[in-house]
Amino acid sequence: MARLVAREYCCMRAFILALALSAVVVAPALDADRPNILFIMSDDHAAHAIGAYGSHVNQTPHLDRLAREGAILTSVFATNSICTPSRATILTGQYSHLNGVTMFNRFDSSRMTVARLLQAGHYYTGMIGKWHLGSDPVGFDRWDILPGQGAYVNPVFYTATDQHTYTGRYVTDVITELGIDFMKNRPRTRPFFLMVHHKAPHRPWEPDPAHGTRFMDRWIPEPETFWDAYDTRTDALHENQQRVAKDLTRRDLKLRPPSDLEGAALAAWLATKPDTVTTDVGGQPVTLSGEALTRWKYQRYMQDYLATVQSIDDSVGRLLDFLDRSGLAKNTLVIYTSDQGFFLGDHGLFDKRFMYEESLRTPLLVRWPRAVKAGTRSDAIALNVDFAPTLLDAAGLAVPADMQGRSLLPVLRGRTPPDWRTSMYYRYYHDPGDHNTRAHYGLRTRTHKLIYFWKKDQWELFDLANDPFELHNLYGQPGHDTLTATLKAELLRLKQAVRDGDQLANEQLPNGVDGPIAKLRGR
Ligand code: CA
Repeated sequence: MARLVAREYCCMRAFILALALSAVVVAPALDADRPNILFIMSDDHAAHAIGAYGSHVNQTPHLDRLAREGAILTSVFATNSICTPSRATILTGQYSHLNGVTMFNRFDSSRMTVARLLQAGHYYTGMIGKWHLGSDPVGFDRWDILPGQGAYVNPVFYTATDQHTYTGRYVTDVITELGIDFMKNRPRTRPFFLMVHHKAPHRPWEPDPAHGTRFMDRWIPEPETFWDAYDTRTDALHENQQRVAKDLTRRDLKLRPPSDLEGAALAAWLATKPDTVTTDVGGQPVTLSGEALTRWKYQRYMQDYLATVQSIDDSVGRLLDFLDRSGLAKNTLVIYTSDQGFFLGDHGLFDKRFMYEESLRTPLLVRWPRAVKAGTRSDAIALNVDFAPTLLDAAGLAVPADMQGRSLLPVLRGRTPPDWRTSMYYRYYHDPGDHNTRAHYGLRTRTHKLIYFWKKDQWELFDLANDPFELHNLYGQPGHDTLTATLKAELLRLKQAVRDGDQLANEQLPNGVDGPIAKLRGR
């Protein structure tokens, strides 16, 4: 396949060269015309914790600079909102059911990826930071990855031949410096493709000392839906275990353990979800419980989450400075995204997984001065399956037919094709799994969302125009039959279009229970 791609690339080069010669112009070196690609991805960074997306809780000047000097896309969605599946989707341009990573399965590294295609297309390729796909990276000339989730402090990095512990260092800084080192030491004869994958702001949200103290005295406003009681919603929200009120552990909340605990006893203490917390208020110890404790937990969670985001923003600033100083900025395509969204107390939740907006939506900022006009803004529906085709398109390489996304370059250039998608398909599988989040799949259009918790045979329907916080489940309510039927038909059409058949789903169902498509057809 790599040879095939290389051959296609050679053909493309020959074709472009012939065109240039026929126009009687001096053909520039083709590699010099192709952009470098710096793909920066954080882990669990919600769009609503970025200034350019209208954050109420923090400021991100360097990320905002990317939006100002390039494009901001405001309707970008993960197709399966969880870390490892999203990473596999970004690499392959395929939905989870086709790339084989529906949950935390090991990625089959013999599969075709955007990295392998760019490498075969003469790019110098690198992967720095969190990988979390269970198999070694393939398609990269250099990689320095965290094992598994990695550590915030004293991180270990693996390379193809070695491992190194960065004692006394903070992971976001190390990833930034390794990324800059990759760009500094790249061969000058080839464009580069560098994936910089941050660990932050993933749980357990451990800030560096400077930013940790900076947020400790801040009061973070609670989101509008913080006290959502889940009226009208299905069992799934009631049964979830990703609530700020109940499911943050002592480790998450950075409570100090008794000094005599160690080993398994210490681990058990840290993993406990406390019902009461004694804290210092105005110099006096106060024991909090109930609503007061929930509010306190939210503050502690967000203070640390936002502090880790601030280190990411600093990192983006350092990477952009390097591009400026080295003269690379003009022809480097810079992308900033996250592997999915995140609940920042929305609906009383943390974590992701659900198809609700805050978790579904992911940030996407793109700067490429040669091709993307500064200040571009689009609400065209973009998906993480589009990322790989976009990068290949920017590099002038063919997009394989089995990639399911479309290049976003026309959208980024302000010329969204008339036949651009107006709806998207989503599916979450990890059930039973962490946080007791129920398996579901669904449809999001520009105005509505239909979610099917298929193991429970329960539905939710939201009018996003009139109920943007998704508080009123309209499914089964009088007057919505026609709308429901239309949305179900579109859901079935999309499910079939992305080739998500019953086979996989049936493997996860008890014998004799209908698969999702059979159920959908029956309604
Ligand atoms: Ca993630």
